[in-house]
Amino acid sequence: MTVEEKHAVMLDETHAPDRRSWVESANDPGSDFPIQNLPFGVFRRRGSDEPPRIGVAIGDAIADVRVLVEQRHLDAAGPAGGCALCGESLNAFMTQGPEVWNTTRRAVATLLDADEPALRDNASLRTQAIVAQRDAEMCLPAVIGDYTDFYCSIHHATNVGSMFRPDNPLMPNYKHLPVGYHGRASSIVTSPTPVRRPFGQTIAADADTPAFGPCRLLDYEMEMGFFVGPGNPLGTRIPLAAARSHIFGMVIVNDWSARDVQKWEYQPLGPFNAKNFLTSISPWVVTLAALEPYRVDGLARGADDPPVLDYLRPTEPAGFDVTVEVLIASAAMRDKGLDPVRVSTGNFQDMYWSITQMLTHHTSTGCNLRPGDLLASGTISGPTEDARGCLLERTWRGQHPIALPDGTERKFLQDGDEVIMRAAATGAGARIGFGECRGIVMPAE
Ligand code: MN
Repeated sequence: MTVEEKHAVMLDETHAPDRRSWVESANDPGSDFPIQNLPFGVFRRRGSDEPPRIGVAIGDAIADVRVLVEQRHLDAAGPAGGCALCGESLNAFMTQGPEVWNTTRRAVATLLDADEPALRDNASLRTQAIVAQRDAEMCLPAVIGDYTDFYCSIHHATNVGSMFRPDNPLMPNYKHLPVGYHGRASSIVTSPTPVRRPFGQTIAADADTPAFGPCRLLDYEMEMGFFVGPGNPLGTRIPLAAARSHIFGMVIVNDWSARDVQKWEYQPLGPFNAKNFLTSISPWVVTLAALEPYRVDGLARGADDPPVLDYLRPTEPAGFDVTVEVLIASAAMRDKGLDPVRVSTGNFQDMYWSITQMLTHHTSTGCNLRPGDLLASGTISGPTEDARGCLLERTWRGQHPIALPDGTERKFLQDGDEVIMRAAATGAGARIGFGECRGIVMPAE
């Protein structure tokens, strides 16, 4: 089904492309956060010492969900929804599952609808419940107990594989299972937290022994991640047909990577310190409900590809038509007032494995996933050069540097560089944006 056909079917009133909000900035066609989106996040008023609280982005503002629940304006979300929305993270809400998520979404949409006076015409309540995004600082949306990173772009896997194994770029397992590794949850931060260039152990091409010092080949990886909803008890599996009901929503992920460290350390157990120094996410969690009109068939398996095993065989479309892009601004560019330059544009529907396959495969041993766990896709690369989602691929290990408008070029990231990732579903109707995932590279210390 095409995006246009999906809109024609129209899932419920929250997806209606002509729906408008009394928060005027939400009706700007360029806004990432129209009333059709309603992503959840956790914030506090800038400079205050209030505990973190749950909010919903609307235009350039935030609806303070806790205030709305406490003042009985979200009773339609039901007691479970209401209670779960008053904490300092989204974990309790993520636990609830799609019925409560969607009831809450409809209730929030009603309250913010252009024709609904309850909040629109109540100036004192509006003052309490609507906060400008510029007056808020964003926190992690959830307490992330566990983090797993996959490797689901066949374009990325083929590119990286061919640098090291030109005749045999893909490992024999690649088309049979979504490859992943258990990452580090403690060092996940929200945009725009800076990244400190890490120290690490590396070995020069002409050296016999390694050295310890600042990473020289610092890279980003453009990824999408998703937060687990209810999850599963230890010893049980989540079948593919049920996987979607265990996914709350998605964020942009920047899996900062120390390539020189990675190259030396990764065999035989995979990434370790090359990946654990920082991972950045965008602060607003875009729900699967908001993305539903953009759910499409993923990348078709090739005619020569092996059949997928039954437990991973799709029963419904599970790709998402989400455009992703990476921009870089060096310190000199910022000083000169130059705009960030776009270095890649890709699409999340180009992934070989879907988010539901990732989740189902993760639990296929009986491994328990818990509410708030984060699973990320791996670098999102497409078939063309400008769709390569990390510098390792984009510059082909530094062989083809990228020219920046300040007159310098990049093989890998330099101190002072800011990496800006954006994502949005824009196929038809409303723009369902993810906001930004930013981070500036700070010198090693
Ligand atoms: Mn990664």
